[in-house]
Amino acid sequence: MGLSLEEIFEEFADLDREDQSKYLLELGDGLPDFPSALRTDSNRVYGCQSQVWLSADVAGSGETARLRILADSDSNIVRGLIAILQSAYDGLTAAEILTFDIQAVFRQLNLQQHISPQRRNGLRGMVERIQSIAGRHAVIASALAAENVSQSAPLPICPAPRFDALHVRRQFPVLNRPLGDGLFPVYLDSGASAQKPACVIAKEREVEEQYYANAHRGTYQFGVRIDEEFESARQLIADFIGAQSAHEIVFTAGTTVGLNMIASGWAAPRLQPGDEILTTVMEHHANFVPWQQVAIRTGAQLKLMPLTPDGRLDATAFDTAFTERTKVVAVTAMSNMLGTINPIREIARRCRRVGACLVVDGAQSVPHFPTSVAADDIDFLVFSGHKTYGPTGVGVLYGRRSRLEEMEPVIFGGHMISEVTIDRSVWSSPPAKFEAGTMPIVQVIGLGAAIRWLQQIGLAAVHQHEEELTRQLYAGLREIPDLQIFGPAPEHRGGIISFRMAGIHPEDLAAILDVHGVFTRHGHHCTMPLHNYLNISGSTRVSFGAYNTSEDVQAFLRALHKARQQLLP
Ligand code: PMP
Repeated sequence: MGLSLEEIFEEFADLDREDQSKYLLELGDGLPDFPSALRTDSNRVYGCQSQVWLSADVAGSGETARLRILADSDSNIVRGLIAILQSAYDGLTAAEILTFDIQAVFRQLNLQQHISPQRRNGLRGMVERIQSIAGRHAVIASALAAENVSQSAPLPICPAPRFDALHVRRQFPVLNRPLGDGLFPVYLDSGASAQKPACVIAKEREVEEQYYANAHRGTYQFGVRIDEEFESARQLIADFIGAQSAHEIVFTAGTTVGLNMIASGWAAPRLQPGDEILTTVMEHHANFVPWQQVAIRTGAQLKLMPLTPDGRLDATAFDTAFTERTKVVAVTAMSNMLGTINPIREIARRCRRVGACLVVDGAQSVPHFPTSVAADDIDFLVFSGHKTYGPTGVGVLYGRRSRLEEMEPVIFGGHMISEVTIDRSVWSSPPAKFEAGTMPIVQVIGLGAAIRWLQQIGLAAVHQHEEELTRQLYAGLREIPDLQIFGPAPEHRGGIISFRMAGIHPEDLAAILDVHGVFTRHGHHCTMPLHNYLNISGSTRVSFGAYNTSEDVQAFLRALHKARQQLLP
């Protein structure tokens, strides 16, 4: 049995700052053993540099059951923090945990003084996980009470929280504000831009209100704090996409800028007439026009991989598509119109065989399913903050270290140089080489908060959830006469479906859906070559985010039926 919270308060009060840090380490030493069976991936808490596992066991049953927090870490300071959390929460019921003011404990101990921003993130991650476990227990307990199910058997060791779409949705302020007519928004346009959870909005506000300064400039307190936060976002993102090092993460203004940087800075200086750039007709203009322009400038040829009739890349044509002349392969991991998920690992294998550089547009994939640039052997990967539940104006360009060394900067100015004389300049090493001028500092840190949030709710679980919504929507759309769905069956796509209804203009449809509080996108979705290929001028697109629910799918289908009745003669 550990110390009580009061005992810890008393000890802390008598110590100076240095001894308080030592005391934290001692608390960590005294932490009870953590069962090795619980050291699982699903019990991992992300957000801290060290490894942390957290679970809970339960004494008693129903609403009076008391939870005991079990946790461990490979860092002694974090073990000390765990000891404080255990003392604070020990023996409380789920309902008591949910209302317990843990911040007051942290304030009383003045914990901010002792721990780095990354540790603060980790601490917040542990608290959120504890609250999530308590939340599930509270729900289970009240369901048992409501159904009057026997409560004699104690609840088992608490599993890691399952994906709970309603719980996720509640974290998005904009989705919980009624529209003028009292309806809540049914937001089905995450492919264009995702909404932000409260923790991201709060993080941006925290930076602005508490320690904003330019990054990599000042050595005063704000400057140091900003640098820590900025660089810890870089590290978090490197881990999130499986990069080997944070040095491979370049912050940009978004996917479009990242792709242009690669096309102009890596491809244009090395392509020659006769070389081939291989891409697809399903690309967003951001991953099409830069390559088209590089081809025009260098005399290289732009080639397209053929599609199957259902809108997938035709793997049987890979043998002829990839040649010794293929120098760049630029492909989206997931189409923003067809929803198709492309076989990146297989494409990477083909690239290696012919020595081509693989550029992946991850704008629609990174926010929706796990990515590993190492496992997929990707040379360049780009994505946008605003589609990843983060702020606008920030994006990520991952480049394999050797590729970033080869790539030329295309924007010149402060921070990206190591030396400037009247005649010449020497570049800094990546990523600084590509980060000239003042970066979108608050947005980078906000994106870090968004990625941490995604890790905490679990990207694999988000993917599964969006797959389920996609299946439901696909089945519902299939029942509507004269409705054409573009792209493959649900098992080959992510959470995007585009369609057309005979006799109804997508713009008219969007307007009626809007009246019902259902927000979708219509038009060519920045994929004109694809729309030309499909011989259509526009389509209606539904795209899901982690916060969408089955009820959203039903609301959309109900509104679609009404629109059909209204618009068809
Ligand atoms: N690629 C894809 C697949 C996209 O969906 C988008 C955004 N619609 C982009 C690139 C461009 O992203 P951004 O506008 O954030 O630069």
